[in-house]
Amino acid sequence: MDKSTLLADISNKENSSSSLLDTLSSQGHEQVVFCSRPEAGLRAIIAIHDTTLGPSLGGVRMWNYSSEDEALRDVLRLSRGMTYKAAISGLNLGGGKAVIIGDSRTDKTESLFRAFGRFVDGLGGRYLTAEDVGMSEREMEWIFSETRFVTGIPKAMGGSGDPSPVTAYGVYMGMKASAKHAYGSDSLEGKRIGIQGAGSVASYLARWLTKENATLYITDIFEEKAKALAAETGASVTKPDEIYTLDLDIFSPCALGGVVNDDTLNYLNCDIIAGGANNILDDEILHGRMLKDRNILYAPDYVINAGGIINISSELEGYNEERAMSKTARIYDTVLNIFRTAEENQLTTVEASNRLAEERIASVGKLQTLYSSASR
Ligand code: NAD
Repeated sequence: MDKSTLLADISNKENSSSSLLDTLSSQGHEQVVFCSRPEAGLRAIIAIHDTTLGPSLGGVRMWNYSSEDEALRDVLRLSRGMTYKAAISGLNLGGGKAVIIGDSRTDKTESLFRAFGRFVDGLGGRYLTAEDVGMSEREMEWIFSETRFVTGIPKAMGGSGDPSPVTAYGVYMGMKASAKHAYGSDSLEGKRIGIQGAGSVASYLARWLTKENATLYITDIFEEKAKALAAETGASVTKPDEIYTLDLDIFSPCALGGVVNDDTLNYLNCDIIAGGANNILDDEILHGRMLKDRNILYAPDYVINAGGIINISSELEGYNEERAMSKTARIYDTVLNIFRTAEENQLTTVEASNRLAEERIASVGKLQTLYSSASR
């Protein structure tokens, strides 16, 4: 469904009470919760996409959305992505996500996050929250004080802490697998790699790449962040728009989604796209095909940025960092399998990955149906 159709559905919802529900069921969402506590400054949406494989898990993002419609569109898209991410990563989890509408630099208060925590608690474990863009350990602690359905809590509190280092390790593994497929060797030495964003994931990724002597170009809308990371890693700083026009081997979007679109595709000059951001392709079908036609190898974002969810999901079985890292290293083989499946079936890499994820959900769903009818 395109943006205008979804927005039309949402704006018509007062006149047609079934249209929003129709939209949700057409995308496979099970439940969406609108959270409002004006006295705490809280405006949030929680979306649960699919719980076939287990409880839904996905981070909470705080962002200054220009409208509620934009926030809703984001949470629907992100929660669906989490279902596929958990499935392709072999986890026994479903997909969910939450967004808090607000400026993460000025609007954070204890009462806001505790109010959010109470909404999460009210879902009784159908949604497990975690850290995402705009959040830090301090806010996760506030949420944790209201509900136990939180993952990615600080190490000092027995949790796995910030997932970004493990996410970045998974992106690095996915990037190496992509290089192996495209160039026949997974060495990144001397490769020209452009990193969009100089936040948490980008910073840890840049450190792995520096160890391999890659040639890095870094950008951020906050230039001082890009400069600091460049100073540490020996990278060059570029302006935010210039990252799309550089002559690169690998483009690594590690900021926000939708950056590979009708406009930027005209400029991209790289062999591989492998980044940590969610929903890198503005339209995963259309832009996936355009990349395939242009012979640009795309490592599906939700596969290679799954290190974070792998890390926090291991809290559910008692956190062990070594196990989380070794499970994350399997992203390398998963990515190669996706590339093989894509080639064998004339699919884009996203289509191949979606197919493998859907096959797993369907087979587990069938098992559940079998077990429940056998126990009747
Ligand atoms: P972050 O907030 O630490 O970093 C994001 C950075 O991107 C910020 O420095 C921001 O200023 C910059 N940015 C925003 N728009 C930009 C633009 N147009 N051009 C250049 N820079 C821009 O977030 P993060 O935790 O590093 O996450 C980055 C991405 O990875 C997000 O899309 C997130 O959903 C995804 N992700 C993160 C994790 C994790 O473990 N943190 C896990 C999976 C996916």
